[in-house]
Amino acid sequence: MSLCDSYQQVKERIAAAAEKSGRRADEICLVTVTKNASMDQIRELMGLGQVDLGENRVQQLTQRAGQVEEFLQRRMELSAGAQEADPLPEFVRWHMIGSLQRNKVRKAVELSRLIHSVNSLRLAEEIQQVSVKCDKPVEILIEVNVTSENSKQGIAPAAVRHLIDQIDTMVNIKPRGLMCMAPLMEGRPEQERLDGARHCFERCRELFEDIIRAGIGGNRFDILSMGMSADFEPAIEEGANMVRIGRSIVGESTES
Ligand SMILES: *Cc1c(COP(=O)(O)O)cnc(C)c1O
Repeated sequence: MSLCDSYQQVKERIAAAAEKSGRRADEICLVTVTKNASMDQIRELMGLGQVDLGENRVQQLTQRAGQVEEFLQRRMELSAGAQEADPLPEFVRWHMIGSLQRNKVRKAVELSRLIHSVNSLRLAEEIQQVSVKCDKPVEILIEVNVTSENSKQGIAPAAVRHLIDQIDTMVNIKPRGLMCMAPLMEGRPEQERLDGARHCFERCRELFEDIIRAGIGGNRFDILSMGMSADFEPAIEEGANMVRIGRSIVGESTES
C-alpha cells in the first residue's frame, strides 16, 4: 500500500472511532510517529498536510527537525516567485514522545511543541530550568504508568495529582494533560491484548477527568494522548484526543 493510502486509511479509522464515541474526527489530533520513517516519507506526509510529527529520541528529533527546516526553507525560496499559493504546510510541530534523559532536555525544549513523556519531578525541574534559560515556555504531558508495570516508564496514577500540583508552581512549564501506553502483553491473543489496552485507557481517562474536575491542571488541561498503531481505536473510544501512530502509516522500518 502507498503511504498516501495507508495515511488515508488511518484517518478514516480515526474518524470512525471518533464517531463511535460521539465526537468528530477533527477533535482527534493525529501525531504521525516518524522514528521509522525515511525523509522521503516525512516529506510526503507533509505534502498530505500532516503537521504533527513525533519522535522518541532526541538525537533523531534534532536531526529530523533540521532536515525538515531546510526542506521548508528551500521550498519557500522556490515558491517565492510562483503564481499559485503553495498548498503545503509552512511548518511542522514536533512531539517528543519517548523517555527523556535529563541531559537531552535542552534540545527537546527548543524543538518540541509538546513533550509527552514527563515522568518525574526531577525531569520537570530540569525542563523548567532549561525553558527559563532559553526563554521558551513549554507544554508537557504527564506520562502515567497506568498498569504499574515495572518495565514501563511513567509515574503511578496515585502520584499524578501531586506532580501536577508541583509543576503548577513552575512558571515556564505548562501541564496540558496525560499520556499513557497500553501494557505489552506480548504473545497473548489479539482480543485479550485489546481488552487489556482498553482497560488501561479507560483508567487513564478516569484519572484525567478526576484531575479536570478537581481543577488541578488549570483551564487548559485538555490533552489525553493514548493509542498507537495496535490500539488507537479502543484508545479513541475510551476518550483519547491525541493518538501517536507510526507503523500503520509508514510501515515497519525505513526504506532509505
Ligand atoms: C513508536 C511509538 C509510538 C508509535 O508506535 P507504532 O506502533 O509505530 O504506531 C507511539 N508512542 C510512543 C511513545 C512510541 O515510542
